[in-house]
Amino acid sequence: MGLILATQFSAFLTGLIMGTCLLGLGIFIGFWPNRAGHPLTGGSRAESNRTLEVLAHLCKWTDRFATDVSQYRDTVDRFAARCAEFDKENPTLKNTSLTTLLTQVVEANNSVQERLEAAESKLLNHSHEIAASMEAARIDPVTGLPNRRSCDDELQERFDSASRFDSALSILLFDIDHFKSFNDAYGHLAGDAILRQVAGRFKLPLSATDFVGRFGGEEFVILLSDHGHNTATAIAREVCEAVAETSLHYDKQAFTVTISGGVSSRRPDESLADLLKRADAALYAAKDAGRNCTWQHNGDNLTPAASPATRLSVISSVPTPVPCLDAPIEQPMEMAVNS
Ligand code: GH3
Ligand code: MG
Ligand code: MG
Repeated sequence: MGLILATQFSAFLTGLIMGTCLLGLGIFIGFWPNRAGHPLTGGSRAESNRTLEVLAHLCKWTDRFATDVSQYRDTVDRFAARCAEFDKENPTLKNTSLTTLLTQVVEANNSVQERLEAAESKLLNHSHEIAASMEAARIDPVTGLPNRRSCDDELQERFDSASRFDSALSILLFDIDHFKSFNDAYGHLAGDAILRQVAGRFKLPLSATDFVGRFGGEEFVILLSDHGHNTATAIAREVCEAVAETSLHYDKQAFTVTISGGVSSRRPDESLADLLKRADAALYAAKDAGRNCTWQHNGDNLTPAASPATRLSVISSVPTPVPCLDAPIEQPMEMAVNS
């Protein structure tokens, strides 16, 4: 009898411990995603990956815990069956309070199992939601392009890799010309629609390895890892021309806007900051030169991007920007926002 009571107590204790673990897990699931100082949205790519790793470990742990509980339940079930047999074989020793207690332990155990399964599925849902919101936090909602944080991560990764393998990396910076005047004249909603359509011209990727992102307000960046400086400059020039040739639409009106571009390519022993500074200087030079053009900084001097000998095929494959209006355009009005 003492043995049976000890077993009862141990079963009860195990149930209690598991219940407490579950409660802890529940609290953790509820609070961890929002804990102070851990940016779930807008975190860097490294932070996002670490968070997803922790969640994956947690899922595995919950799975293992569920298996343990299941084994524990089997043990208690077997023990309860043996007690029932014992009761049957020894009617005179029948102990109804023991049977009742065991039934309660089995029921409590079932409830632990159910709660654990619910926690497991909640945890899985949480990790899916977190992964989706992390992804969303890296995309600019206006243009659908990677946002500044993604651009910074991509720049750093590509720069580190290019430095390690001494390979090519070109930065192409673009900025819409006189965009403030456009907003002032047509409003910010029109400005957003134009921004979106200009971005459509950047979604060209020349190859799967090229990167296009929204670098700032009306600024875009293209990162090329597979091309030398001359090709990168020719591509930048073509992007510039493609935007100027594109008819953009808002509120039944057609517009054209122009962009200016600046190009720099990595030089040995150069820092990322210096590489970016050169692309920026080239962009400013393009603005100073009257806009709607591309300049390059080759490390020694700033010059306008030379006209490519042959037109690159990439631009002709750029998809037409998605019209921002359902209604047909009645009387297109050309409006160049050049200086
Ligand atoms: P510049 O040719 O010298 O680049 O002139 P700019 O007017 O384009 O440059 P400036 O820096 O003076 O103004 C940038 C404008 O871009 C101001 C800001 O309202 C607009 N802008 C930035 N982000 C957005 C956006 O998300 N939506 C809209 N509609 N406008 C934006
Ligand atoms: Mg501008
Ligand atoms: Mg700007």
